[in-house]
Amino acid sequence: MRILIDLHLHTVFSGDSSIQPETIVEQLHAHPLVKGAAITDHDSLRGYLRTCKLAEPYEDLIIVPGVEVSTEVGDLVILGIDEETVFPKSLASLLEVSETYGGTIVIPHPYRSMGLHGLAEEIHAHAIEVLNPTATPKENKLARDLAKRRNLPGIAGTDAHSPSEMWTVYTEVEAELSVDSVLASIRKGFVKSHKAIRIHPNYGR
Ligand SMILES: [Zn+2]
Repeated sequence: MRILIDLHLHTVFSGDSSIQPETIVEQLHAHPLVKGAAITDHDSLRGYLRTCKLAEPYEDLIIVPGVEVSTEVGDLVILGIDEETVFPKSLASLLEVSETYGGTIVIPHPYRSMGLHGLAEEIHAHAIEVLNPTATPKENKLARDLAKRRNLPGIAGTDAHSPSEMWTVYTEVEAELSVDSVLASIRKGFVKSHKAIRIHPNYGR
């Protein structure tokens, strides 16, 4: 099935976001298209754990565990680790932790500030974030080129830190409605990145 999912969201547990886990679940439930979110708080799984719990009653929603670690050399997103552990600031150690837990490594906004820039060419990764509204169109274009060059899947995430920033881009994943299936499909490249279509409020009237 086709699942539309925002793969980069920050909750209040990030420390610099105003998004409550309740808001994520309420909006996903109400959203006509986007039914999934990866919770990628800075260095913490607490927002994911809370959001996951709140989403339990809704069978059509999918909440992917994630973390965005501010390493010494730039940000790295790891999806698929759902147990609390220490996320080291050293990139090499972090990649080892990800390997141990079977994480799916995504290079977020490689050419924005806090991006990995040149390192994004060489580090082990499973996907590149090629559409992030907090990066400029040029930075996103460079990220798309990087994904092509490295032959890695390109994904989209809003990097939202406030409710109005959520769901403005999303990733279309061809998968079953489970975290494992979504992550496997991301790794296999069964993904497309999209900007949300803004429907005019008077449309159809
Ligand atoms: Zn972020």
